[in-house]
Amino acid sequence: MKVADQLKIIERQIEEACLKTGRESNEITIIAVTKYVSAARAKEALEAGITNLGENRDEGLLDKYEVLKDEPNWHFIGTLQTRKVKKIIDKVSYIHSLDRISLAEEIHKRAKEPIKCLVQVNISGEDTKHGMPREDVMDFIRDISAYDRVIVSGLMTMAPLTDDKEQIRSCFRRLKELQAEVQEARFSNAPCTELSMGMSNDFPIAIEEGATMIRIGTALVGKEI
Ligand SMILES: *Cc1c(COP(=O)(O)O)cnc(C)c1O
Repeated sequence: MKVADQLKIIERQIEEACLKTGRESNEITIIAVTKYVSAARAKEALEAGITNLGENRDEGLLDKYEVLKDEPNWHFIGTLQTRKVKKIIDKVSYIHSLDRISLAEEIHKRAKEPIKCLVQVNISGEDTKHGMPREDVMDFIRDISAYDRVIVSGLMTMAPLTDDKEQIRSCFRRLKELQAEVQEARFSNAPCTELSMGMSNDFPIAIEEGATMIRIGTALVGKEI
């Protein structure tokens, strides 16, 4: 299917989720996750009107960056090894996987200007999921406040792998609650306005629970590789 057609379907689902909860669809940024597809397919997404692309590995991002340059806003959404930071830092608009102090330190060291980051939180507690435990987040934000080129723009999570919609919803709800807690603390380094949650299978629920960024791969650009 054409990306443009898939995008129409997704936009309709976004509208529906927004209608249910009194939100506006322009509050939600679609990040097309292109990790399973070619640069040509990513380009097709841009032509369909997508402006934000997500990659979870440095190789994938660099390969596509070579072709698409900074036409899209690039989002790094995967586990980021400290030694890879310097390769991607001047290319990305957001890093969604800030999960440890050593990574914040490296981003601060390598960045020439403040970098928008999202703290990845392991809300579900599954040990297969990356991200820090919920209860560590407040201290973490406090601990990295000296790294003033690291902006905590928001929080990111992945829902547990389950068909249980209520369990998924509860996970997103708890991330939203944590966001409120961070905002109340008024950390100078953490405006924390973004909530990156929701993928192909669960983005309508994420929107109902307050997502501002949804990361959609399979349902939007498909899977080629
Ligand atoms: C792959 C990936 C996605 C997109 O997954 P789909 O199920 O294909 O939509 C979103 N977020 C992260 C962190 C990913 O690694």
